[in-house]
Amino acid sequence: KTFKELGVVEALCDACESLGYTQPTPIQAKSIPLALQGRDIIGLAETGSGKTAAFALPILQELLAKPQPLFGLVLAPTRELAAQIGQAFEALGSLISVRCAVIVGGLDMVSQSIALAKKPHIIVATPGRLLDHLEKTKGFSLRQLKYLVMDEADRLLDLDFGPILDKILKFVPRERRTYLFSATMSNKIESLQRASLRDPLKVSI
Ligand code: AMP
Repeated sequence: KTFKELGVVEALCDACESLGYTQPTPIQAKSIPLALQGRDIIGLAETGSGKTAAFALPILQELLAKPQPLFGLVLAPTRELAAQIGQAFEALGSLISVRCAVIVGGLDMVSQSIALAKKPHIIVATPGRLLDHLEKTKGFSLRQLKYLVMDEADRLLDLDFGPILDKILKFVPRERRTYLFSATMSNKIESLQRASLRDPLKVSI
């Protein structure tokens, strides 16, 4: 199947083509049509599978239909992964002028506050620093958020981000779509899933 056959709109198909994505990877082929139907998704897939575009494309497509600041939040376990995801959103969203902020620990809070005040469409963050901003940065709120992604959820929990994720969940609307990606399933992931996803479909490759 092509991206177009999965339901991806032309502007995003063009972006995929310009990145050399000639055809969808298996995780993309399975999850994109379900995501475009508006379902919450648990994706069992490892890095290298193309999982980033599997969640980025449906989010960008919905953003294109209903442009809005602070539309999507992606939580990732490490600064490096957050940076990579941010780059993927910018590359896939370049034709539709998506603004993305990467908010990670170890960098200056003030310049991050300025980036957040510009109201990006997409925030990619590590959990601890995002919670700092939610608790301390005046004027920053996620009350409008439409999409939440927890990427590499197994690593998020291994790094003991569970309690921080619980706190972040209190700052985001209940009415939203949620995608959880993980390389493995475990009891801890299942309880995170029950706490945060609504009637999800499980997709694995
Ligand atoms: P990820 O698993 O999201 O980290 O993606 C792994 C690599 O595959 C990244 O370098 C992506 O740019 C690339 N990629 C993602 N989707 C495709 C695709 N459909 N065709 C070719 N490469 C892809």
